[in-house]
Amino acid sequence: MAGEFGNPEVVQEDVDVLLIGGGMACCGAGYEIMRWADAAKAELGMDLKIKLVDKAAMDRSGAVAQGLSAINTYIGSEQDPADYARMVSNDLMGITRDDLAYDLGRNVDDSVHLFEEWGLPIWKTDENGERHDGAQGLPALKDGGKPVRSGKWQIMINGESYKWIVAEATKKALGMDRIEERIFIVKLVNDKNDPSRIAGAVGFSTRDHKVVVYKAKAILLAAGGCVNIFRPRSVGEGTGRAWYPVWNAGSTYAMAAEAGAELTMMENRFVPARFKDGYGPVGAWFLLFKAQAVNAYGEVYMQKNKELLNDYPPYGQAAVPASCLRNHLMLKEMQEGRGPIYMDTVTALAKLRETLTPREVKHLEAEAWEDFLDMCVGQCGIWVGENIEPEKKNSELMPTEPYLLGSHSGCCGIWVSGPEDVGAPTDEAHADAAKIPAHLPKGWNWGYRSMTTVKGLFTAGDGVGASGHKFSSGSHAEGRMCAKSMVKYCIDNKDWKPELDTPVEQLVEEIYKPVRTFLEHKDYTTAIDVNPNYITPKMLQFRLQKIMDEYVAGVATYYKTNANMLAVAEDKLGMLKEDAEKMRAKDLHELLRAWENYHRILTAEAHMKHIQFREESRYPGFYYRMDKNFVDEENWHCFVNSVYDKNSKQWNCFKRAHVDLVDKSK
Ligand code: FAD
Repeated sequence: MAGEFGNPEVVQEDVDVLLIGGGMACCGAGYEIMRWADAAKAELGMDLKIKLVDKAAMDRSGAVAQGLSAINTYIGSEQDPADYARMVSNDLMGITRDDLAYDLGRNVDDSVHLFEEWGLPIWKTDENGERHDGAQGLPALKDGGKPVRSGKWQIMINGESYKWIVAEATKKALGMDRIEERIFIVKLVNDKNDPSRIAGAVGFSTRDHKVVVYKAKAILLAAGGCVNIFRPRSVGEGTGRAWYPVWNAGSTYAMAAEAGAELTMMENRFVPARFKDGYGPVGAWFLLFKAQAVNAYGEVYMQKNKELLNDYPPYGQAAVPASCLRNHLMLKEMQEGRGPIYMDTVTALAKLRETLTPREVKHLEAEAWEDFLDMCVGQCGIWVGENIEPEKKNSELMPTEPYLLGSHSGCCGIWVSGPEDVGAPTDEAHADAAKIPAHLPKGWNWGYRSMTTVKGLFTAGDGVGASGHKFSSGSHAEGRMCAKSMVKYCIDNKDWKPELDTPVEQLVEEIYKPVRTFLEHKDYTTAIDVNPNYITPKMLQFRLQKIMDEYVAGVATYYKTNANMLAVAEDKLGMLKEDAEKMRAKDLHELLRAWENYHRILTAEAHMKHIQFREESRYPGFYYRMDKNFVDEENWHCFVNSVYDKNSKQWNCFKRAHVDLVDKSK
């Protein structure tokens, strides 16, 4: 029977594998899993039940929704995955898992070859060195075709429909009866008999009055990263605009934390410097058009301030200094009053005109527009609205508000089991080894690739911490690795039956609490949004953003904080958490917003606690602890990890040893 507002239908389903999210990682998993499931059926007679749920529509969900102009991770036969692991490490100031990066590097190209097979147009260079952005008639990458590289690891694509193409392959592989869209997962449920094991997940439909309760042996939680915990630069008329897709609300980190999974490097954040107001991509301008960023006086700050890089050896002295340090050099100009900062598109295009024919230049200019049209259409609106012709007028750049993610140029996320064959150091030698909670695994491998420290719970893409720079292709590849591991896990746990640790009625009531709060109190006042008994999700989000912005190194303080400010934030976040219990939902849309906020608060709290714990400024340019404004290699060249106790609502942060598996002196 169909439900109604306040009285939802409850649908219960038992599956073997549940995939949460329909982004790049889950698309990878969804595509890959059927071949392993089919093999399990053929060889063992096991008929695995698989289900994928996404809060949105897979064709346009997640960070690739609008499309992309480049695949940022393609190793190619001429490059070494170890070199890739070196780059990842340097860009993230030395604290990454080489096992994860190397493993990704040796597997990622296969996903790119699949994308090409499925119809994604990849730019190619022919035998005369000429570039083709259609690539018809040229060999496929896997047959020796040469991609057009916009950087050492990036290749150019015509990618407006990238997500559509990738999602279609997943839909075909899984079949639509295994997929349900517009299902928002609110929480994971542990096993009744073993709290260190996952047993299911609960959520609700954003279209129908329906709560869904899944029991599952293995779950892939890949619901992206987190945006909008900090007050965005775009407010008022610009509300809703951000660089990171506004629909990824920290569900991955919050739900994993509540289930007891160990998080890692949650202090890390990404503050991209992008075209101002539209958040348009800069990669093609820097890498393909060779443009430079300048201050208001036309000075190239990367040259002018380059001695600042010497404060951060060896990360500042690499051929490409770490991303945060590039921001560090830009911020000096802004703070000392030499802004605005510009992308010097005029000089870049003029230089290209010296060597190219007018036709080629016209083509390049069209590509500059296409770069935005492919992946950030709003920036075209800004250029049109502000009469910007890039060959005549430079465009402003601006560092954005901070975002939390693990697959782009950031590395916060969940601590996962690495590959078996790339070395698995233990933590025993580490000074703080005794402080690692005893129930957590030792070392970097505990059986199933990409399994978190909760049995049966896997993650990929933005979910995996301590290993950034995977991007779209790498997230897809990681999802595929999970698929294989999860099937193995199900086979190994063939006779085990998950049992939820909480009765279904209680879970349903929990999810619908914001609706109940609204229905109970709505008639107390005549103005629906003003009521002493509840808070609207929108107002609660503003409060969260204000706290994070002003005390946890948001744009308001030029990304600066200190222990005292963090203490204030901790206090205020505690009260916000209490008030979050009073969020109202006057419709399904607000119910979604309420739970997104709940996930955001936990994610924000993890971020704050990790910054508080790490007594140094590991990522200058992304954030500064002004009371510890240095990188302390002696004491803090280590992972900061944490576990959350959902009952006491307390975080426990601790160090884990960092070990280089790849020689970084090369
Ligand atoms: P996503 O692809 O973001 O997918 C997350 C999924 O989870 C979505 O389907 C979402 O609807 C779903 N979801 C979220 N919460 C819930 C919930 N509670 N319940 C159910 N479902 C949920 N990579 C490149 O290779 N080249 C580029 O040029 C490039 N540019 C980028 C530009 C931007 C602005 C961003 C943000 C990323 C860019 N990337 C690029 C990186 C790439 O998009 C990501 O690495 C990749 O999408 C991460 O995959 P994911 O599956 O972890 O997350």
